[in-house]
Amino acid sequence: MSQKIAGVKGMNDLLAPDIAVWHALEAATRRTFERFGYEEARTPVVEDTALFVRSVGEATDIVGKEMYTFEDKAGRSLSLRPEGTAPLVRAYIEHAVAQKEPLTRWWYLGPMFRYERMKTGRYRQFWQVGAEAYGAAGPAQEAELIDLAMQLFRSVGLGAIRLEINSLGDADTRPRYLEELRAFLRRRKGDLCAECQERIEKNPLRVFDCKNPGCQAVLKEAPAITDALGPEAKEHFAGLQRKLAALDIPFTVNPRMVRGLDYYTRTAFEFLSDDAVLGTASAVGGGGRYDRLVKELGGPDTPAVGWALGLDRLCLLMRAAGEVKPLGPELFVAVAEEGVADAALAVVSRLRKAGHRVDFDPRGGSLKSQMKRADRSGATFALVLGSKELTSGSAELKPLGGGDPISVRLDALETALASGR
Ligand code: AMP
Repeated sequence: MSQKIAGVKGMNDLLAPDIAVWHALEAATRRTFERFGYEEARTPVVEDTALFVRSVGEATDIVGKEMYTFEDKAGRSLSLRPEGTAPLVRAYIEHAVAQKEPLTRWWYLGPMFRYERMKTGRYRQFWQVGAEAYGAAGPAQEAELIDLAMQLFRSVGLGAIRLEINSLGDADTRPRYLEELRAFLRRRKGDLCAECQERIEKNPLRVFDCKNPGCQAVLKEAPAITDALGPEAKEHFAGLQRKLAALDIPFTVNPRMVRGLDYYTRTAFEFLSDDAVLGTASAVGGGGRYDRLVKELGGPDTPAVGWALGLDRLCLLMRAAGEVKPLGPELFVAVAEEGVADAALAVVSRLRKAGHRVDFDPRGGSLKSQMKRADRSGATFALVLGSKELTSGSAELKPLGGGDPISVRLDALETALASGR
C-alpha cells in the first residue's frame, strides 16, 4: 500500500454531519447582513506581505510570529491573510470606493491563516465572518455593528454571548497613556515575563495580550486607559454606552481589553462566551474603530469600524447547544426489481426537479439493504417501486418514523410530499 498523506496540522476538514451546523450559521449570517443592508465583499486569500505589516503592526504576534509568508515565482513576498480588515481596506482604496459613495458597509466570510499553537478553538486555518463600515465617525456605527452581531448570535440560539467594551483613545491621548503605562511597567519590570519586558519599550499595549499569570497580576494594577481619555474620545465612549443602553444590549467596560492589533482607535469591543466547550478560547469575536487605517494605507481620511467573529468557535457552541439537526431527505426511493431501476430513477429525478429532497441507492442491491440505507438516511418516507406499482400507477408511502403506510398515486407524489412536510 502507498503511504498516506495527512492533512496539514491545525487545518481542519469540515465534513458531514458537522457541516450542517456550518450551513445553518452561514445562512443565518447572510440573512442578518441582508436585513442590515450590508454588501458582501470577496477578496483573495493572498496579499502583499507589506499590507499586513503596515496595518496589523510589526510588533503584534499576528505579524511577528504567525503569518504564513512565502515568495512567489517572481520573488514577491506574499502572505496568506491572517485577518480580513486590511484586505478590505486595500480593496476599498484600490477601487476608489470613497469617491463613489460616502458610506460603505461590507461583510466577508472566509478562511484566515495564523501559525498559532493549537488547542480547542484555536487552529491554523480558521474561518471568520467580518463586517466593516466606512464613512461614519459617530458611535451610532459601533452600536449598529454590535447590534448586528448580537442579532446574529440570537438567530442561531447563542443568546448568552457577552459584550465587553473599551476605549483606546485618540491619536492625541494614546502617546500620553503609553508613557504612563511605560513608566508603570518599568517600575514592575522584575515581575514581567521576558517577552513583556521587551514589549515595554517596543509596544507596551501588547503586554495586555500576554497570558502569563504573573504579567496578568501586574496588569490588574496598571493605569486604566479609560482614565486617560481626552474630552472627545470620552464623549464618544459615553455616546456608545448610551446607544447600547437604548438598544437594550448589556455590556461591561473592561479597561484591560486592548485587542491584539495595532490599528484600533477609540472603541474596542469583544464578544465572549463562558461555555466550557471553548476551553480557554472564550472570545468568539471582536472589533473596534480604526479611523486612521484607510489614510495610513494610502487612501482618503475615512473613519471606519469593524468586527470579526470566529466561525469555528461559534460552530462549537452551536453543536454543544444541539439545535441544528441535519436535514434528511423527504423521500427515499427503493427499487424492488432491477427491471424498474430506470423508471424509478426517472421518478427520483422528477421529484428533485420539483424541489423535493429525494434520495435512492445508486448501487441498487437487495431491497433489504436499500431499506437499511433508507433508515440511515433520516428520510421521512420510503417508497418501494416494483413492476406492480409502475403498472398500477400507485404505491405506498411508508413513514420511516413509524405509522401506517399511505397509499399514493405515482403522478401525485409531489402533492403527497408537500402535505407530509
Ligand atoms: P481577532 O481579531 O484575532 O480577535 O479574531 C477574532 C475572532 O476570530 C476571535 O475572537 C476568534 O473567535 C477567532 N479566531 C482568531 N484566531 C483564531 C484561531 N487561531 N482559531 C480559531 N479561531 C480564531
